Amino acid sequence: AAPLLSVHNLKVHFDTSAGVARAVDGVSFTLDAGKTLAIVGESGSGKSVTASSVIRLLPKNGSIVDGSISFDKTDMREIDLRELLAIRGRDIGMIYQDPMTSLDPVFTIGSQMIEQIMTHEQVSRGEARERAIEMLTRVGIPEPHRRMDAYPYELSGGMCQRVIIAMAMSCHPKFIIADEPTTALDVTVQSQVLDLLKDLQSSFGTAILLITHNLGIVWKMASDVMVMYAGRTVEYASVSALYATPLHPYTWGLLDSMPSLSGEAQEDLKAIPGAPPDLRLTGTCCNFYNRCPYAIDRCKHEIPELIEVAPGHLAACHRQGAGSVLTREGHQ
Ligand code: SF4
Ligand code: MG
Repeated sequence: AAPLLSVHNLKVHFDTSAGVARAVDGVSFTLDAGKTLAIVGESGSGKSVTASSVIRLLPKNGSIVDGSISFDKTDMREIDLRELLAIRGRDIGMIYQDPMTSLDPVFTIGSQMIEQIMTHEQVSRGEARERAIEMLTRVGIPEPHRRMDAYPYELSGGMCQRVIIAMAMSCHPKFIIADEPTTALDVTVQSQVLDLLKDLQSSFGTAILLITHNLGIVWKMASDVMVMYAGRTVEYASVSALYATPLHPYTWGLLDSMPSLSGEAQEDLKAIPGAPPDLRLTGTCCNFYNRCPYAIDRCKHEIPELIEVAPGHLAACHRQGAGSVLTREGHQ
């Protein structure tokens, strides 16, 4: 069967006073129904922009300049705004990092949930209310009838994020975009919310595009992973292959700088030295060139293509694949 979501050669530019920034520079991926693809990278890598492009929610100065986005046989670049608004929330749910920005502080939880359901489905207010209570129960909100009348500020961060998930799931979407869904929460609550998301995913068969900077969350949640750096995909693999044999020097750096999901302090936690390049100046070399301990002269002049180094395992590095093998120093 065709993938539920298929993005090909996506390019997103941002107009800035100092020139055009290539926020996303030719990214391709697919997501099958019921599966989870994680996009991982540092802030500014283009992971959120990639996800937001699928529902065309870009800042004013951002635009999709190339590529195709097909969701459930719909061309997401071509549909008009009315169709787009209908799809958002009904077929595609969104969960963002900060629950307080997703919930309106002046309306009760219940009225926001009822509104969300009635916007997208032909149901009576009573039916929408029943569904809302059912979803609150499903996400583990105690005393859901009473919570319907609560305002967001009356709930803890973790409870708010459960409400957001309940709202996102209330129309049983086929697909959810979860952008750093637990980053604002403390570690214990984070783990509970991720378990909940996984549990709902298997009940409803929802596909998830998970945006995170945390490889521990990738390991727990996703089947496939795409590593982005400075607007491009540097590695794309099954999660098990990425952990067993990571191929790209940037991924190696990410793995070394990864905090564990349990939040326990990890020895030898090393941040990757240096900073990502200015996105107005990329497009001529390997974007990781200025930070890569393995760089050779070619890396300065030529963009490495994303190639299949092992079956189903892609990497974009001049020194990896096509006859050459780069081994991680200090490992193996
Ligand atoms: Fe490093 Fe060169 Fe590979 Fe880029 S292409 S990751 S600079 S070795
Ligand atoms: Mg982001």
